[in-house]
Amino acid sequence: MSEQHEGLSAVCGEKVGVYVQVPFCQTKCTYCNFHTGVFSQSLYGPYVNAVCREIREHSARHDFSADTVYVGGGTPSLLDTRDLARILAAIREVCGGEWEEATLEADPETITAGKALRWRAGGLDRISMGVQSFNDAELQASGRRHRREDVFSAVAALHQAGFDNISMDLIAGLPRQTRKSWEASLAELLGLRLQHVSVYLLEVDEGSRLGKEILHGGKRYSAAEVPSDDEMADFYERACERLASAGYEHYEISNWALPGCASKHNLKYWRREPYIGFGAGAHSFDGKRRWANVYDPAKYAAMIEWGDSAVEQEEIVSEADAFSEEFFLGLRQLAGVDLGRIERKYGGARSLQVAKLIDSGLLERNGDWIKLNAAKLTISNEVFAELMD
Ligand code: SF4
Repeated sequence: MSEQHEGLSAVCGEKVGVYVQVPFCQTKCTYCNFHTGVFSQSLYGPYVNAVCREIREHSARHDFSADTVYVGGGTPSLLDTRDLARILAAIREVCGGEWEEATLEADPETITAGKALRWRAGGLDRISMGVQSFNDAELQASGRRHRREDVFSAVAALHQAGFDNISMDLIAGLPRQTRKSWEASLAELLGLRLQHVSVYLLEVDEGSRLGKEILHGGKRYSAAEVPSDDEMADFYERACERLASAGYEHYEISNWALPGCASKHNLKYWRREPYIGFGAGAHSFDGKRRWANVYDPAKYAAMIEWGDSAVEQEEIVSEADAFSEEFFLGLRQLAGVDLGRIERKYGGARSLQVAKLIDSGLLERNGDWIKLNAAKLTISNEVFAELMD
């Protein structure tokens, strides 16, 4: 798209979440289906220049301020700390610096004491670590660079630098994972007593090398050693039990937090609050429209350098789509959604489906609120499909 993008009509003057995408990784994990990859480090500097320019140019046309910042990827912790500081400075300069939360995604093997200190000095106050497992055989089979020991030294470095809001991701369903190794990973994670935990189920699709091998056969990525769907569901349920008894609040299908530590930035996605994304493949939503930048980082950097917009997809969210989003985003939160509010805003067109799902025990109703049945979280996609039917 070469015409100047004119989004943000709905957020002028509002507080928004700012997301920055850094799509660079050291290696490609076998299960990864994101638009990220291994690129020459010579692209990092021009890419950061482009992100800073995109932030400044976008913000010059629209009046908004940021209350949350999230630098994700990819592996943004690979960036030189000065480059990362430039991005944060650009956000602060044009969107204000009064952030309630500023997160960096970091992989354990990239975290050092020196970097952690510089991240903290740059204004970051939350780290989301891609750990996935504490078992070296699983990590190796998945193409991860770090090993169990790296996780502990990374957490120590972060604590020493003053980070007291740390999140960790685990994946249920990695090759070579067993009930025993999963229990061990959960025990190691709980032993660290971090503020936030995310548990994802392995996604099997054409977008990853492991997913293709599971779907079409092959021996290269240990597809034969991936746990069954039933085992994965069991692992997830064990995580629910153990995290609950350790005092973590399950606030979104894949996310748990100690009281007061839910991710302020990510809540915006499920609550349909505005967020603006910068960088290759970054998505944005201003309350009325959604748009996304080109995925290819070299193309993105070149477009911004030429003074073009990097937006390649844009759509005004129709009322029907907004209505659907209220359910499939809102119901990801364990607190559920206010059906009364939705019906007042959009009419009661889905009442019949909702009643059917309550009768079948997939949804629960409490006054005006509906939520997913806590025992059916592993089949939430089926509930969403029924609702959208
Ligand atoms: S899973 Fe994360 S670290 Fe691994 S390739 Fe994908 S984005 Fe990079």
